[in-house]
Amino acid sequence: MTNKYLYFVANWKMYGDLKTLNSLDKIIKFSKIIKQKRFKLIYCPPSTLIRPLSKRLKKTKIEVGAQNAHESENYGAFTGQINSKMLKNVGARYVILGHSENRQLGEDNKKINLKIKSALKAGLKIIYCIGETLKEKRNKKTNQVLSSQIKIGLKTIRNKSNIIIAYEPVWSIGTGLIPKTNDLIKSILFIKNKLGKKPSKILYGGSVNGDNIKKLKKINIIDGFLVGGASQDPKKFIDIIKKTIN
Ligand code: PEP
Repeated sequence: MTNKYLYFVANWKMYGDLKTLNSLDKIIKFSKIIKQKRFKLIYCPPSTLIRPLSKRLKKTKIEVGAQNAHESENYGAFTGQINSKMLKNVGARYVILGHSENRQLGEDNKKINLKIKSALKAGLKIIYCIGETLKEKRNKKTNQVLSSQIKIGLKTIRNKSNIIIAYEPVWSIGTGLIPKTNDLIKSILFIKNKLGKKPSKILYGGSVNGDNIKKLKKINIIDGFLVGGASQDPKKFIDIIKKTIN
């Protein structure tokens, strides 16, 4: 996995406050000494931290992303919501969309499609999460689910160059479980095939940690990792990155 761009995306979920940002000094220092030049490090904190984090990361190679966005391109009467234009304005360059934790709150593929289009228009790059639940896996519906997440979620989007896919089996998020290597390869190849001639980057997400990374990094059709829990601890996140690039 060394001669292509490798992505490491940190999804902090609903964790972190201004004090937490101090813990990033370690990762900033580390990012400056990485020998591997072709890597992207993207931090997606809660929206409240996007501005202070992007200021702090100004002179570094680390970029900032958001964890969700409203689908409206314009301002509007949507209490509690934030759109992509607003996220871009405070320093986000990426946005995670379609995360299973938001799908569980009622987001469907059609709504996610609107969100993706709105975010692209605002000039953000997308990290589009797709993946099957345990029930769907047991019922051998994985390909069917991935297929409609891609078909509906990316409907009418011709230029996918600013879309990164994160394959995140729902049953592996926060559980410590990861797919069997063969199953993972099959799903990634299936996704690549569905995306057509110019496949987007495809990341894997779900319980990535310092132990299983040794196994995951061997799958060279993966372009990087979306890391939740382990990314909240800079030591653990650095360990994952080191083990991947070394
Ligand atoms: C995630 O929330 O996208 C994720 C991959 O979480 P975790 O690494 O904790 O499983």
